[in-house]
Amino acid sequence: MRRLLLVITAWILTGSQILSATSRVPEKTEVLIIGAGLSGMATAYGLKKAGIAYHILEIAPRVGGRVRTVSYERPGMPEIRTDSGMEEYWESNPAVKVLKELKLPMSSDMAASSIVISKQFYPLGGEEPAAFYAKIFSKEEWAALKNFKTKVTPWIHELTEVQADFKPDAHPIRADLMKLKDISFAKFISDEKVPVKVAEWIRISLECEIGTPWDRISALDGLAEFHIFLGDEGEKCYRVKGGNDQFTDGMAKAIGLQHISVNKRVTRIISNGNSVTVNYLDTETNGNGVIKASHVVNTIPLFRLFEVQFDPPLSEKKQQAIHTMTWGAYFKVHIFLNKNAEKFWTLNGNNTLPILTDSDLGVIYDGNPAKKGDVRMVSLLIVADAAERFNLTPLDTVRKQVIDGLEKMWPGFAKEVTDVEFYRYHPRAIASWPVGRSRFDDLSNEIRKPENNVYMAGDFTESSHSDGAFISAARVVKQILETRLKNNVTEVPGKKGKLK
Ligand SMILES: Cc1cc2nc3c(=O)[nH]c(=O)nc-3n(C[C@H](O)[C@H](O)[C@H](O)COP(=O)(O)OP(=O)(O)OC[C@H]3O[C@@H](n4cnc5c(N)ncnc54)[C@H](O)[C@@H]3O)c2cc1C
Repeated sequence: MRRLLLVITAWILTGSQILSATSRVPEKTEVLIIGAGLSGMATAYGLKKAGIAYHILEIAPRVGGRVRTVSYERPGMPEIRTDSGMEEYWESNPAVKVLKELKLPMSSDMAASSIVISKQFYPLGGEEPAAFYAKIFSKEEWAALKNFKTKVTPWIHELTEVQADFKPDAHPIRADLMKLKDISFAKFISDEKVPVKVAEWIRISLECEIGTPWDRISALDGLAEFHIFLGDEGEKCYRVKGGNDQFTDGMAKAIGLQHISVNKRVTRIISNGNSVTVNYLDTETNGNGVIKASHVVNTIPLFRLFEVQFDPPLSEKKQQAIHTMTWGAYFKVHIFLNKNAEKFWTLNGNNTLPILTDSDLGVIYDGNPAKKGDVRMVSLLIVADAAERFNLTPLDTVRKQVIDGLEKMWPGFAKEVTDVEFYRYHPRAIASWPVGRSRFDDLSNEIRKPENNVYMAGDFTESSHSDGAFISAARVVKQILETRLKNNVTEVPGKKGKLK
């Protein structure tokens, strides 16, 4: 009865309130998932479709992980909701299919953005991509960029296919392509001898995606991330109207709030033969609990895994893979402005945001695209070395530096500022692979191999973005189905019939 009441309470809550709803941890389940970010919830979503029982333990008091939408209710202002974590989903991201299945309202945009190259601002003001690129590039430069894309497109498709196949031993990356993990993306572009402006456009467009300077990421991984710019127009990107927490709330409802327990820190994973025991600490009551499962899916970002005990320990190769990865850095700033400030980013009545700045300001997004009330907001995604620096600098100093930077770009900006908030992603916002390592190499393949019925998912196992969350979830669901078939477990719990 208590449980029923709890579930009903959870279902009638809306928006971010549903995130504080919690449920009882069962004594056992078929698949225990650690973490209720996109990877954990996408895994549960896939298991639900396969008819396999699951339960999620989440350390935080909310679901979503690095997806976070904040709301501001300042006196005299309408409520404004804006993302302080992830921003957008590229067309090829499997998340987009789930967003459509959940029928969430989305807005879409093209890959082309306003950009500052060598201090020159190229605003995208409502024109078609071809006309916009003609403003940036000469005919020769445009032809060089097209040639470059034509050359790398089949390589990038090959990488995508191998990743989607989940069979690195049977379907490895070609050796000559794999060699690109041993040089930096910067060196690769320099060897391609594209014109300077084209190289700069590639660098600025990519560094904000990878949160890493281009000379510190392997060329193979830089190329894998370049997929969003292929073709004349690049991929479309989608945003969830009202904020990305609409998506994580929607996923939580779809997988069932009764299958998610928040405020539970997983502390120890003990594998014994065909089952796994997971210890957790209830961070509200300080009570320690135990749950048994046939399979455990970890989605804790790999760099945080040292916080959990593994018995037996993770294989040496997995540990080596984790210790030799690097990370991309982000730092977010929300700046509230008077209505008058929209003149800075409006051109012939068109909104020129987002702007890729090529400075410490990173990418300037519109934080209030619905233009609610008389408030305007820009949301800065500061990236790479500037983000690392700001992550360790007193915020009053950061505020001065950021506003000074915007004042230099848009004289008169500072006097329109009414408020500033910061969101740090220290120490690691997203995954990155340095020169000599790659998401496609043997060590990364090792991470993806299940060990003692423990499966590794999470964006850090596949990509620098949330597509990695969904790709890894699809992989672990497939791996669990394969293990069940091998162990002759073909009954779908709670359902009659066999697995297909
Ligand atoms: C500022 C920022 C902007 C971004 N922008 C984009 C973007 O525009 N597009 C895009 O595709 N991607 C973007 N990303 C990346 C995207 O947010 C991630 O790829 C995605 O959210 C990762 O989901 P995940 O579930 O793998 O990891 P997480 O969201 O980190 O989830 C892991 C979960 O595990 C939980 N956990 C940790 N330890 C324990 C424990 N011991 N026990 C139980 N639970 C635990 C955590 O609390 C968390 O909820 C951005 C990231 C950041 C930080």
